[in-house]
Amino acid sequence: MLKTKDILDEKNKILRKVSKEVTFPMDKEDLKNIDLMVEYLTNSQIDALAEKYDLRPGMGMAAIQLGVPKRYLTIVHEVEEGTFDTYVIVNPKIVSNSLEKIYVEDGEGCLSVNREVDGIVPRYARVTVEGFDTEGNKISIRAREELAIAFQHEIDHLNGILFIDHIDKKNPFKDQDKYRAI
Ligand code: ZN
Repeated sequence: MLKTKDILDEKNKILRKVSKEVTFPMDKEDLKNIDLMVEYLTNSQIDALAEKYDLRPGMGMAAIQLGVPKRYLTIVHEVEEGTFDTYVIVNPKIVSNSLEKIYVEDGEGCLSVNREVDGIVPRYARVTVEGFDTEGNKISIRAREELAIAFQHEIDHLNGILFIDHIDKKNPFKDQDKYRAI
């Protein structure tokens, strides 16, 4: 079982690496990582378990956050209280996006950034992501709102980018009126 301390902190330079494409069949180690990531994300969003195991809540994780520079990520999206949709995607790419951009009003969060960071991170309101499942079958996912943000955030990780990089240092709320808050 993963613990919060297993997740790399923003100070760790490994997070800045560009992750490499995965080849199939996937390594056993990577499949194990995916199970651990999904388990962590799910448990972390269930209050009683988050408390019991001292987990910081999060809905997404990229392999690089465990120090593995490979292009796969997991998202566990709570669609209603206690009900989760789980996404696992390998070698993901955003193939189309809305013109409309949105941002998380309360500020985006990241399991690797253990502090409050104010500011606007503009994200597409809707994206289509293509990639592969763990067996190498092609998949396509359409995501909107919070889920769309999660995919963009996690795909950024695969390119060594953290959400804080998108925030204007001098004016964190720059162009706020151009985007819709969610
Ligand atoms: Zn993150």
